[in-house]
Amino acid sequence: MERESMELDVVVVGAGVAGLSAAIRLMQMAEEQQREITVCVVEKGAEVGAHILSGAVMQPTAMNELFPDWKERGAPLNTPAGDERFYFMTEQNAVRLPVPPQMQNHGNYIISLGNVCRWLAEQAEAMGVEIYPGFAAAEVLYHEDGSVKGIATGDMGLQKDGTPGPNHEPGMELHAKCTLFAEGARGSLTKGLCDKFDLRAKSEPQTYGIGIKELWEIDPAKHKPGFIMHSTGWPLDSETYGGSFLYHLEDNLVSYGFVIGLDYKNPYLSPYDEMQRFKLHPLVRETFEGGRRISYGARALNEGGFQSIPKLTFPGGALIGCTAGFLNVPKIKGSHTAMKSGMVAAEAIFDMLAEDGNEPVTYREKLEDSWLWDELYRSRNIRPSFQKGFFAGMIYSAIDTYLLRGKAPWTFRHHEDHKQLRKADEVDRIDYPKPDGKITFDKLTSVSFSGTNHEENQPVHLTLKDDSVPVSHNLALYDGPEQRFCPAGVYEFVQDDSGADRLQINAQNCVHCKTCDIKDPGQNIHWVTPEGGGGPAYPNM
Ligand SMILES: Cc1cc2nc3c(=O)[nH]c(=O)nc-3n(C[C@H](O)[C@H](O)[C@H](O)COP(=O)(O)OP(=O)(O)OC[C@H]3O[C@@H](n4cnc5c(N)ncnc54)[C@H](O)[C@@H]3O)c2cc1C
Ligand code: SF4
Repeated sequence: MERESMELDVVVVGAGVAGLSAAIRLMQMAEEQQREITVCVVEKGAEVGAHILSGAVMQPTAMNELFPDWKERGAPLNTPAGDERFYFMTEQNAVRLPVPPQMQNHGNYIISLGNVCRWLAEQAEAMGVEIYPGFAAAEVLYHEDGSVKGIATGDMGLQKDGTPGPNHEPGMELHAKCTLFAEGARGSLTKGLCDKFDLRAKSEPQTYGIGIKELWEIDPAKHKPGFIMHSTGWPLDSETYGGSFLYHLEDNLVSYGFVIGLDYKNPYLSPYDEMQRFKLHPLVRETFEGGRRISYGARALNEGGFQSIPKLTFPGGALIGCTAGFLNVPKIKGSHTAMKSGMVAAEAIFDMLAEDGNEPVTYREKLEDSWLWDELYRSRNIRPSFQKGFFAGMIYSAIDTYLLRGKAPWTFRHHEDHKQLRKADEVDRIDYPKPDGKITFDKLTSVSFSGTNHEENQPVHLTLKDDSVPVSHNLALYDGPEQRFCPAGVYEFVQDDSGADRLQINAQNCVHCKTCDIKDPGQNIHWVTPEGGGGPAYPNM
């Protein structure tokens, strides 16, 4: 069956803050310049916001620039940041530390990023942007000269073996003068673009963390809107980077999450179980007692920062937001930089259209002239300094922040996360407490709180380059770490009738966090988009 096609000026892949801010800025500029422009955004979630998971405390810098009147327009930035705490945790105690300058939140807002995206989508549609939720961009299309022509959305109704089923509908081709990739951390199409255009030739490897989050409705007597707590230390050992966040939003809601650097070394570490057991700490436990968990999910986030930014443009397109890697790690914030990068890319597209070019080449120099570049440059050495362990990282970070002010004449390098695991026989196993069903939960119960759903009769979207590697390599050397690093119980080693081990992939549970694509030690797992609309259905994460 032939695919239908549509011609547009700009196609945006992903309705996160980056993609939506780019689309809005394009329409604003079109109005300023009295020019017609056609812009469309495709989103793999069933609705805008369904796949968005963040902390989140938003620094409103980019929002102020995009919509100086965002308050009057009703943007859901309702809870100003208030009292803040930063703790170093031991198993039973917590030492209160001064809040590092980068983590101070005066003037920021505790938000649901999903709700901010829903609101941005309304603004964009009112300006004439076409938004297509439920459509995954599954393939990059190229012109004969090798430049990007646009994308194709995935077929609907393919069966498990890849053949068309009774309800098969071919995907649609969206052709554009410029395609913006705004897929968030570890974008699946971005990965292919990086290879094709060698975009990472001059940058350090991108590194990542996994963030696992729950939304709770707590006892109103314990709720303090605006309260922010971060911690480091227990339950992680001193060579593992990470910590917790706890934010009190509006309506008695508390956003609790735990982030762990994916360069962790012990294959027995389970990010999910670390996140669960942290809730049992005496300082934290009482927040949840008498409360009700509303939602659960997980998502990878970039930790590479400045030195991992790839080449940003190529003929026919550009990378924006976290798929390019603009997160400020010490701040644990990427929503303001994602928005800003989208806005700047939109301005570069207008330069490109004026020149009748096919690559928004002014994007990078415009970014270099913006506050985003300076912010990422100054924070670039903090995260890699933790490669030498927690205490070395804390000391270096204090010197870098207070004495050097981010202007050290050196830049630390990064290592690739998937190469960091030690062999199972070189490390100690980690025993995690059994879930109590009240404050801590098992993985599958948690997944049911993510609203995740995939059409079962479709090709598995966790593809393996070599089917034998999970048993011959991952199970043999690392005792099957995918069973533990996946926060949704997708990977299970089971025995077949002959007693031989095999990897079972429960793809329908996947919450699209991308951790397996990053941490698989042999880089054998390749995450591709499932049928559009499948995946989590986050309410306000
Ligand atoms: C646990 C956690 C806590 C965080 N805390 C904070 C915080 O407190 N403050 C802060 O500012 N930032 C925080 N961040 C970072 C912030 O969430 C990101 O920087 C921000 O979401 C990046 O926006 P984005 O638009 O680039 O990508 P995303 O928010 O990831 O959005 C990408 C969108 O594109 C869609 N998509 C992806 N691929 C395709 C495809 N092929 N086809 C169609 N659609 C596609 C996705 O479904 C998604 O909707 C946190 C992140 C995590 C994980
Ligand atoms: S299968 Fe991969 S992308 Fe899906 S939830 Fe598990 S680790 Fe995340």
